[in-house]
Amino acid sequence: MNTLPARAPLRPLDDALQDLLARAAPALPEESVSTFEADGRVLTQDLRSPLDVPGHDNSSMDGYALRLADLPAAQGLPVSQRIAAGSAAAALQAGSLARIFTGAPVPSGADAIVMQEDAQLLDDGRVQIKASPSAGQWIRRRGEDVARGAVVLRRGQRLSPAELGLAASIGFDCLPVARRPRVALLSTGDELVMPGQVAPEAMPPGAIYNSNRFFLRALLLRLGCEVSDLGIVPDQREATVQALGHAAQGHDLILTSGGVSVGEEDHIKPAVQALGELNLWQIAIKPGKPFAYGRVNHGTGFAHFIGLPGNPVSSFVTFLLLVRPFLLRLQGASGALPAAIMLPAHFDWPKPDKRREFLRVRRNAQGGLDLFANQSSGVLTSAVWADGLLDVAPGLRIARGDVLPFIPLADLL
Ligand code: AMP
Ligand code: MG
Repeated sequence: MNTLPARAPLRPLDDALQDLLARAAPALPEESVSTFEADGRVLTQDLRSPLDVPGHDNSSMDGYALRLADLPAAQGLPVSQRIAAGSAAAALQAGSLARIFTGAPVPSGADAIVMQEDAQLLDDGRVQIKASPSAGQWIRRRGEDVARGAVVLRRGQRLSPAELGLAASIGFDCLPVARRPRVALLSTGDELVMPGQVAPEAMPPGAIYNSNRFFLRALLLRLGCEVSDLGIVPDQREATVQALGHAAQGHDLILTSGGVSVGEEDHIKPAVQALGELNLWQIAIKPGKPFAYGRVNHGTGFAHFIGLPGNPVSSFVTFLLLVRPFLLRLQGASGALPAAIMLPAHFDWPKPDKRREFLRVRRNAQGGLDLFANQSSGVLTSAVWADGLLDVAPGLRIARGDVLPFIPLADLL
């Protein structure tokens, strides 16, 4: 069913994103994976710590544990025990020191550690303390990192290496995460040729290499997706319907590039409408206007459908701004765009667009932003040169020095 009027107004980005995120429910089911394999996955439950970390007061230095009450001791103090990391400590006898190493438990009774550089071993085996230690120095307290019972990671958290380490530190060898999204990837366009299949010098007139397929696949993999690359669909109605119908089986999302504009060779929209429904089409951003969301039915269920523009930069930018949040939300994460950083433009932008624009810019050594000269949506070199997107409101003229929101590409990958 087509739920869109023939000439719907362009949707503002925030509005389209909210709509898209709402449509990503319900989230994918949970599975358990080894903590080793959980990088990039999204937690489906809060992780509560079953223990204190560290589990006991321990030394953060190689040195000596002592009782402050035994100082000063002009003749030095005898060493009554040696405590290495991983061993248990006896109570510290009054009037003595414990030789101690980093990570070793602090013996009961001791109230400070003196590092070995501040101590001197005397000929008679006693140790003289050359510093005046303060109470508690170089002692890492039980539970100072994590208290038993505390929630250390929240459901919806996307896991990165630091989170894996923290989960392991409270004893989790497996983690509950959302199943990987299964994504069918399709490219449309009769002009497309795969690198390796035709040599550059043998390219027929009008042919171009399929570049979108490469970066879209890589972006999907980075988001934890299982990708079925279903190749190139010819620009024909029947072939497009068939390819989408087939792709709906066994996939959570069908992602296409190209063929979603208003040209006679653009068959994606009517094919989606024939197989399901089209809920969203055309967004008021530049690059990236011809973006579409819908559903393709199969049997009793459906696969989400997202159609990206064919122009490579449009495809790249709409993936980052819309598909990425959608896939994160499908896994139970917030899906919010990363927070922008306010930085000064080191260029003028006198002719703004009516649409909200995402310019390809790069931070310079002066802390400002340089603009890539060619902002055409077909120029993929701009995406390689840039290290971020400048978020320019509709109709906003920029004068050198104006401070504007910048989203680092690294936060979007
Ligand atoms: P379309 O959205 O199909 O009208 O395509 C818009 C522009 O993007 C055209 O110049 C296409 O040749 C180009 N294009 C479409 N798909 C790809 C692709 N997979 N790789 C590189 N360029 C593409
Ligand atoms: Mg096309």
